[in-house]
Amino acid sequence: MKEILKKFAIFFLFFAIIAAIFSFFSQENEDINEISVAALVSEIKNNEVESIQISGNELDITLKNEEKQFSKKETGESLTTVLKNYDVPAETIAGIDIKVGDEPSSGMFVSTILPFVIPALFIIALIWFMLRQVQGVNNRAMTFGQSGAKTANQQKNKVSFKDVAGAHEAKEDLLEIVEFLKHPQKFVTMGAKIPKGVLLLGSPGTGKTLLARATSGEAKVPFFHISGSEFVEMFVGVGASRVRDLFKKAKKTAPCIIFIDEIDAVGRQRGAGLGGSHDEREQTLNQILVEMDGFDNETNVIILAATNRPDVLDPALLRPGRFDRQVIIDLPDIKERKAILDIHAKGKPLAKGVDLKVVAQRTPGFSGADLANLLNEAAIMAARDDKKVIDEPTVLDAIERVLLGRERRSHILSEKEKKVTAYHEAGHALVAHLLPNADPVHKVSIISRGRAAGYTINLPKEDKKMSTYSDFLDQMAVLLGGYAAEKIFFNELTTGASGDLKKITHIARQLTTQFGMNEKLGPRTFGKKDEMVFLGKEIHESRDYSEKTAEAIDEEISKYINDALKTANKVIEENKDKIEKIVAELMEKETIEKDTFNELLK
Ligand code: ADP
Ligand code: MG
Ligand code: ZN
Repeated sequence: MKEILKKFAIFFLFFAIIAAIFSFFSQENEDINEISVAALVSEIKNNEVESIQISGNELDITLKNEEKQFSKKETGESLTTVLKNYDVPAETIAGIDIKVGDEPSSGMFVSTILPFVIPALFIIALIWFMLRQVQGVNNRAMTFGQSGAKTANQQKNKVSFKDVAGAHEAKEDLLEIVEFLKHPQKFVTMGAKIPKGVLLLGSPGTGKTLLARATSGEAKVPFFHISGSEFVEMFVGVGASRVRDLFKKAKKTAPCIIFIDEIDAVGRQRGAGLGGSHDEREQTLNQILVEMDGFDNETNVIILAATNRPDVLDPALLRPGRFDRQVIIDLPDIKERKAILDIHAKGKPLAKGVDLKVVAQRTPGFSGADLANLLNEAAIMAARDDKKVIDEPTVLDAIERVLLGRERRSHILSEKEKKVTAYHEAGHALVAHLLPNADPVHKVSIISRGRAAGYTINLPKEDKKMSTYSDFLDQMAVLLGGYAAEKIFFNELTTGASGDLKKITHIARQLTTQFGMNEKLGPRTFGKKDEMVFLGKEIHESRDYSEKTAEAIDEEISKYINDALKTANKVIEENKDKIEKIVAELMEKETIEKDTFNELLK
């Protein structure tokens, strides 16, 4: 665009100069008095004319008194003929110095030729411009099938394994890849086949993309980064040609790493889609498979791919010779969370008292991205409040903010609503406190956060990788603690419990249909989730059991929920005084922290 503007400006200038010259010449003509042929004739008859210069049709007349004049005659007729026609005597004509110039004067050139030449030039230029424009579009169309993969600048954003906290096993696996890239010969002489594809599996935000970058940084090789969705365009065949182009480029720059992020966008099981785009996806996937097979053992290109949905990937992608190596990245445990926090706390002025270990304790289930976000939120809040450093309350507030949404102090509850909320949260907290397998209470509050009127935070004593049957039963009772308290103390229910009910129903269903924990239905799963690709979501659950079993499942789910309610009711009925204590404290202080809470219930 800038280019075109520049050219336009040059053209404009050019024409402006021409116009200036043009007007200069025509101005000169205006200085000279133009007279008619009849006037010239009478001048000649009066013997006033000294000389006449003829150029084409133009007559430049010089009078005896030095005055210059200008006239025109008809084309084709010579001046003498014209004068004879006007009855000018031949001897008078002979007395005038008549000069005939066969070339038109420059003034004549400017005034007669240029008006034709300039528009013609202009039109030619215009056509030329348009042609170039069209060619530009063509050029772009030609590059449409190119991969558009971004090569990470090795010098600028060098990430290494140092920048990735935790994920020890994953790093170990990837170190092997680094070794392949650095010293391929070592493995080739052993007759070993160098793996081509490595699939990084893990929940969103666990650092898959980061690890891939770090791997290329460690190996010091170029890194082609492309996202699975970039292959899928509106036009069929583009994805496949982009794959071809990407692999071609990579082969040229070998040794290198190709990183296909979010590969599930193209790598879903084939033949499962509805709608038009799946053909395109299949072609793209086929092309990836073909290219991976096409590598010989000498080509030192390693393909990393990342996904959080390994279950939907096409089995052909996972077979040996393709993405046969799989690196699983788990959510970080408490130590890893501390390490991640340490990395992201760099460059952020934390106050003296801030203990990142405590933050790590309070954030089970957080991914690396969540933790990075947490510290960022804390930094933003501190800056907003014009603090010099990020103090502990700010960091702790940031945890809850990431967990539950921001506090809404302006969301003021009426006295009655506040009371109901206090009893509701007290119900959750008390049941959690008294049941042996429930997670201990960390904080109870009746300040609105996100969409909840109040909240109770329970945190496990330590990180859990597995849950037992008893854990689930107590967890369900805790979820109904709020509901039970409302019913017992007000003999009335509010909409505030609907979120709890959704969660408990989900748990009860999982117990019966997924975990095989129900005695009556036995150790099996019920229902098979099918992927409806065109929405990319599980929207369809196919039944692999009878109508009768369906009824039994419903019955068992209801039974679990009723049992949980009974437990919650019993705990609250027997400890009404304790509920009152918690409520009184909540009404006064709005928030109770763990220590105060335990003190209160001693
Ligand atoms: P994914 O690709 O798995 O969804 P990313 O690699 O994009 O996740 O991670 C998002 C961000 O989270 C990273 O940019 C980084 O700041 C942070 N992060 C995640 N895991 C870690 C980790 N193990 N160490 C340090 N930072 C991490
Ligand atoms: Mg990612
Ligand atoms: Zn609740």
